[in-house]
Amino acid sequence: AILIVSFVCVSSKKMAALHGLRWCPTRSVTACSLHISSSIAAKQHYKMLVLGGGSGGITMGARMKRLMGAENVAVVEPSEMHYYQPIWTLVGAGAKTAASSGRSTASVMPSGVKWVKSKVQEINPDTNTVRTDDGTEISYEYLIVALGIQLHYEKIKGLPEGFEHPKIGSNYSIQTVEKTWNALQNFKEGNAVFTFPNTPVKCAGAPQKIMYLSDAYLRKTGKRSKANVIYNTSLPVLFGIKKYADSLWEIVKRRDLQINLRQNLIEVRADKQEAVFENLDKPGETSVVEYEMLHVTPPMGPSLVVKGSPLADEAGWLDVDKDTLQHKRYPNVFGIGDCTNLPTAKTGAAVAAQSAILNRTISKTLKKEKPDKKYDGYTSCPLVTSYNTVILAEFDYNGQPLETFPINQAKERRLMYHMKADVMPHLYWHGLLRGLWGGPGPYRKLFHLGMK
Ligand SMILES: Cc1cc2nc3c(=O)[nH]c(=O)nc-3n(C[C@H](O)[C@H](O)[C@H](O)COP(=O)(O)OP(=O)(O)OC[C@H]3O[C@@H](n4cnc5c(N)ncnc54)[C@H](O)[C@@H]3O)c2cc1C
Repeated sequence: AILIVSFVCVSSKKMAALHGLRWCPTRSVTACSLHISSSIAAKQHYKMLVLGGGSGGITMGARMKRLMGAENVAVVEPSEMHYYQPIWTLVGAGAKTAASSGRSTASVMPSGVKWVKSKVQEINPDTNTVRTDDGTEISYEYLIVALGIQLHYEKIKGLPEGFEHPKIGSNYSIQTVEKTWNALQNFKEGNAVFTFPNTPVKCAGAPQKIMYLSDAYLRKTGKRSKANVIYNTSLPVLFGIKKYADSLWEIVKRRDLQINLRQNLIEVRADKQEAVFENLDKPGETSVVEYEMLHVTPPMGPSLVVKGSPLADEAGWLDVDKDTLQHKRYPNVFGIGDCTNLPTAKTGAAVAAQSAILNRTISKTLKKEKPDKKYDGYTSCPLVTSYNTVILAEFDYNGQPLETFPINQAKERRLMYHMKADVMPHLYWHGLLRGLWGGPGPYRKLFHLGMK
């Protein structure tokens, strides 16, 4: 590298420009050499480039390291911290601490894999390159896109600045999850309002899990008689899979929880503790609800980077084959998790199932063979219904239950709560993120067939 650089510096400015190097006329050849040699030494081409270092990105980074060697793999992720988001449901209800949900990105990055600590700005699959926010261009042979889903608090009038007021929180971000717990603890009397937006979301159960937990907390602290617990959802149903929805309807009746369907939060007047909803069945009709506590699930949408690239489908999601997770038009591009258009519920459990299929698809592709394993859409949602009960929903692309245990999982159970609160975090940090756990029906695999 030093030889090349010396040549660049003693030749012309034009030459430097051609090589995409910075011209440094006032510096000595040595200083110039040092500057440029370090930028050349920073490798800008990888056999496997992974975009996003969340659940899917770190998992695939670990799997790709095993498949092709750490030196061939890089993960682009700007955040210093990696969070186990599913536990935020319990953080918002005071059952776990926010600190317990996060670890440094450095500690979860597979050893030897290059961590590119930048934000992806642009993906150019026609030239097999991506550009990061500091202007660096990175080229790849194969690409895995794991950029997650985009939160849009700003699409609700009055947010995100409304979070500066008390009485309002959101389990969907690390900045606002503890505000939920504060609002719950400080509840005196009035309406406790929980919302579900008019967009696709990650973990579609989470917006109502916090309602059940809040109800349980208010009962435990003797405040429930002074509270109206209200769930305003944009959806026409309480939950998408009938088997579990039937059980949830029984619970809401038994516990006197008020469910209003087709109600979409459009404005928060945090200074007055008012939430404004539109009736999706009667365009133009709005209602104002006063709250003593408000939990907001924000509108969500595709990653803006994916949406702005040729990799997107019409709606902006990463356009992948639902069986193999390979991109429909760019065969050297693959996707996993919330950023994709896989027609299943977006969850970490789905990422676990997808990771083994994607690993198989990529290893076959590397051998120039046809992918032979199909993803069945497996996803799972542990519906927390109190501080010690969970309904464990597990289902596939067709909305058919795909359950782990030979018992009725639509029933509230203590065992499932311990799975959610105690077992799953360990499996996440020590199994999934190390690429050691996953496959179709990952829980089933664990409990019946052992780790894989
Ligand atoms: C409150 C809550 C409760 C949940 N409960 C459950 C549950 O009980 N069970 C369950 O299975 N799942 C649950 N989930 C969902 C689960 O956390 C997600 O589905 C899972 O994390 C998806 O993984 P992912 O890799 O697709 O996205 P993420 O894990 O969100 O990772 C995306 C990564 O991409 C990075 N990124 C974004 N943009 C860029 C860019 N431009 N350049 C580089 N990097 C970028 C982000 O920083 C992030 O690290 C819950 C989520 C929440 C918020």
